[in-house]
Amino acid sequence: MLEAVAETARAPSGGTSCYLSVENLQAWYGDSHVLHGMSFNVQKGEVVTLLGRNGAGKTTTMKSIIGLIQKRTGSIYFDGRELIKLPPRAVARAGIGFCPEERGIYSSLSVRENLLLPPTISDGGFTTGQVLDLFPNLRERLQTVGTKLSGGEQQMLAIGRILRTGAKMLLLDEPTEGLAPVIVQQIGRIITLLKQRGYTILLVEQNFHFASSVADRHYVVELGRIVDMFRNEELDANQEKLKRYLGV
Ligand code: ATP
Repeated sequence: MLEAVAETARAPSGGTSCYLSVENLQAWYGDSHVLHGMSFNVQKGEVVTLLGRNGAGKTTTMKSIIGLIQKRTGSIYFDGRELIKLPPRAVARAGIGFCPEERGIYSSLSVRENLLLPPTISDGGFTTGQVLDLFPNLRERLQTVGTKLSGGEQQMLAIGRILRTGAKMLLLDEPTEGLAPVIVQQIGRIITLLKQRGYTILLVEQNFHFASSVADRHYVVELGRIVDMFRNEELDANQEKLKRYLGV
């Protein structure tokens, strides 16, 4: 099924120069200074994770990229454009889709209504049928309201919804949180498929084993800045260092 979707869904447009580059990103909640010079990049077609302890600033980084944190400075360069001063709607139009940790499913709306809610921002997104081919459980639940969905179904709906919009880059904040192992595996297969289709994915993960099964590179976040970076193939040799970073 996944392979069939891979054949039919078109990959995002754009050349090899399409990438995200975050430089010296600072962000505040009111007077509270939370990001202290985040700098990292993601090449087109890569899956990259932000790893780090609770409160390190991973979610704030994603929210800063999509414009949900108003007080921010530095540079967020994506697909040839500077985003730092743009509001969320303009960032979405630039081609970045955000899937928040809390998933953002409207409880009073049906699966179909939730799916159709975000506007299409560019060509090349999944059709509704392709989303349902990717997540067959959702097809059976189209009329079900958000409150009746399992955590896994909510996560699938949240991902499917941004695939419909035509976003070229996906920011997924802890997509496996609270999910059963079999659903985590399914989410992993979806991420791998999307990578094969040319999507670029930035992932916040607490589940280190999951992260290592899908990602090309991993950045370690501490106190609002990047302190280290590992290629996936370097992880085994750096297990002890990583455990110290993550406190596990
Ligand atoms: P977690 O996995 O716990 O979400 P994280 O690395 O994603 O961790 P953030 O959620 O980005 O961390 O939080 C970074 C810092 O900002 C923390 O000290 C947190 O308490 C603080 N913070 C997060 N959201 C707010 C907010 N709305 N108002 C004020 N401070 C906040």
